[in-house]
Formats: sequence, structure tokens, C-alpha cells
Amino acid sequence: MKRALITGITGQDGAYLAKLLIDKGYKVFGTVRRSTSEKFINLKYLNVYDKIKFYDFDLLELSNIQNVIKLSKPDEIYHLAAQSFVPTSFQVPIVTTDINALGTLRILDSINSINKKIKFYQASTSEMFGKVVQTPQTEKTPFYPRSPYGVSKAFSHWITINYRESYNLHASSGILFNHESPLRGSEFVTKKITSALARIKFGSNEILRVGNINAKRDWGYAGDYVHAMWLMLQQRKPDDYVIATGKTHSVRQFIDLTLKYLKFDYKWTGIGMNEKVINKANNKTIIKIDKEFFRPAEVDLLIGNSSKAKRQIKWKPKTNLKNLVKLMVDYDINQIQNFP
Ligand code: NDP
Ligand code: GDP
Repeated sequence: MKRALITGITGQDGAYLAKLLIDKGYKVFGTVRRSTSEKFINLKYLNVYDKIKFYDFDLLELSNIQNVIKLSKPDEIYHLAAQSFVPTSFQVPIVTTDINALGTLRILDSINSINKKIKFYQASTSEMFGKVVQTPQTEKTPFYPRSPYGVSKAFSHWITINYRESYNLHASSGILFNHESPLRGSEFVTKKITSALARIKFGSNEILRVGNINAKRDWGYAGDYVHAMWLMLQQRKPDDYVIATGKTHSVRQFIDLTLKYLKFDYKWTGIGMNEKVINKANNKTIIKIDKEFFRPAEVDLLIGNSSKAKRQIKWKPKTNLKNLVKLMVDYDINQIQNFP
């Protein structure tokens, strides 16, 4: 039985990856940062909570990381834990860097001293491309990160390559473009849109406030993307791969898809900061632009080219954006109806 240690198992990707590995017959170990609130909703939703052995863990604590690796004796480590929200990285840039950049180095250095045979996956991100210098982005596109988050992840990406080349570790870095699901954190724009519009459809009087609706992202489904992580660690040689759908849409288009799926009769009015969406059924404003949600530096356009992954590890996405919206909205409606 193969053994896998997943850092950040309580997050979106951690839950989908834990399910995938358990279904493949792995013994799964997961790291949990202590807090006073419920952490295991995602794992319980996917029915895997009872099958995982958990360890208290924080990426800021080297001896703790070493102990967890020694106790769990993994064949594979999937390093997903991170301070993953871009706006927060502008508020707490130093902590973000300690967790996201030095945290990765602490794990790599621990692997190097404890057992060089452990295979390592690094959760890199399209945010490293930032103010893109080439479109679409590939593994060879130079980075131009636009946030402390993007910069911290660029460090982790390069230190993964450096440990691979210096110490011959089986360390791979997946440059994953945005991927969403019903379990996506509520502060990310897709989940914020689907959950708020579902609530409004079911009678809530709230107004959804968003920032830059012209930003474009290459959005995929988390359930498809965790499969790519696993494939990377099954290869004879470690490498780096872009994982993306190859299609880009604006936040505005994501809003339109959600409104249409929820069967709103609506119209956009106004321009710039005064743009809004009116629900024609009752003439109420349901979406407004709010400067609070704009960033100090923005990533305007991301679109990935994952042909290397298609060619070398035989990965390709299965879920298009329309179906992703459906998955997310159906989940949100179910939550409203069953857990009001
Ligand atoms: P989430 O934010 O849902 O999960 C992050 C996880 O990291 C949580 O379990 C969190 O635990 C844990 N964590 C945060 N800080 C620490 C710390 N100091 N010590 C230990 N654990 C910590 O992220 P996703 O599942 O969406 O993403 C997984 C990884 O992939 C992240 O590294 C992210 O940056 C990266 N990524 C994600 C993309 C996406 O679109 N989803 C795109 C590209 C890369 P807690 O519950 O305690 O906060
Ligand atoms: P990111 O790509 O990791 O930063 O994922 P997000 O989902 O947080 O943001 C994607 C894009 O949506 C960014 O360009 C944001 O500026 C834009 N956006 C517009 N309005 C909002 C909002 O209200 N919340 C968030 N999180 N992003 C928004």
C-alpha cells in the first residue's frame, strides 16, 4: 500500500486529492493547522474524513515538519498548504512569504535529510506569470508576478527545481491555472458569485459586490486538476507542467453564465464603477462594483497551454466552464435548501 502525505488536506485541492488517492488504494496522511473552528467540512463532504490519519502541522515550524515526515513515512508528499488568497498576501506579505516560500524549502530540506526517495509535488500557480509576457503561457514563459503571493510561489517553484537538480530529488512542480469547485474558498471570485446569486435567487435581499469584472482567467475544475498532480509523481522523471484548459473568460462572463443558469431575467446598466446588474423581475440591483475588491496590482489575463502535460503525462481537462458553473450552483442551491 502506497503512503501519501498531503499538506493542506483541509483545503479545496487537499480534499479532492485525498479522495482520489484513497480510491486508488493509498494510505493517506494529512496535515492540519490547529484552530478553534471546524476544519473538516470538505473531507466529510467527500466521505473520506474517517480514512485519513491527521497530524498537527504548521509550515513555520521545521522540527514539526521533520517529525511528521518521520512518523508518516510517505512515498509521496503533495505539498498543497499555502496562504493561497492573493488580496491577503498584500495585507500579510511577510507571513505569506514565510509560509509559501520558506515553508516549501523547509519540506524539501527535510526530505533531503530524512529520505531522498520521497517523491515531492509542489503546488505552483499561474499567478507567477502575472503581467504576462507571452500568451498563452507555457512552462517556458518568463514569470512576472504581481502580488506577494505570486512572488512567494515563484521562489517555491525555483527552489523545487534547484533541489531536484542539486540533490537528485524526484520533485515536480505543477503550474496550475485557477481551478474551482463546490469546495472552493468562499473569498475567491467564482464561489463568491455562485453562492451569492443562488442566495439572491432563493429570496436573499443582499447585493453582490465585486471588483474588476474585466479580469480574465483560465478556469478549470479542481477534480480534474488533482489527477494531474498524481500523474506527475508517477513519472519516471520529475518535471514541471502547466495544467490549464486553454480557454479564458472574464469575471463578467462568469457572472453571465451563473445568472443564466439560475434563470435570472436581468440587465447590465451603467459604466465603469457605476456598472451594475438589475433583476428585471423586481427592478432590484443585485450586483454592484466596489473598489474594496480591486487589488494594488492586477493580473489582467491568464490562459495556459498544457500541451506538454497532454503529451507527456496524458492529462487533459474534462470539465468545461459551463459544467463547472452548474456543479457549483447546484451545490450552493443544495446547501440553501438543506442547511438554511
Ligand atoms: P486552500 O486555500 O483551499 O487550502 C490551503 C491549505 O493550506 C489549507 O488546508 C490551509 O489550512 C493550509 N495552510 C495554510 N497555511 C498553513 C500553514 N502555515 N501551515 C500549514 N498549513 C497551512 O487552497 P487550494 O486547495 O485551492 O490550493 C491548494 C494549493 O494549490 C495552494 O498551495 C494554492 O496556492 C495552490 N494553487 C491553487 C490554485 C487554485 O486555483 N485553487 C491555482 C494554483 C495553485 P487552514 O485550513 O488552517 O487555513
Ligand atoms: P486569483 O486569480 O487567485 O486571484 O483568484 P480570485 O478568484 O481571487 O480572483 C480572480 C480575478 O477576479 C482577479 O483578477 C480579481 O481581481 C477578480 N475579482 C473581481 N472581483 C472580485 C471579488 O470580489 N473577489 C475576488 N476574490 N476577486 C475578484
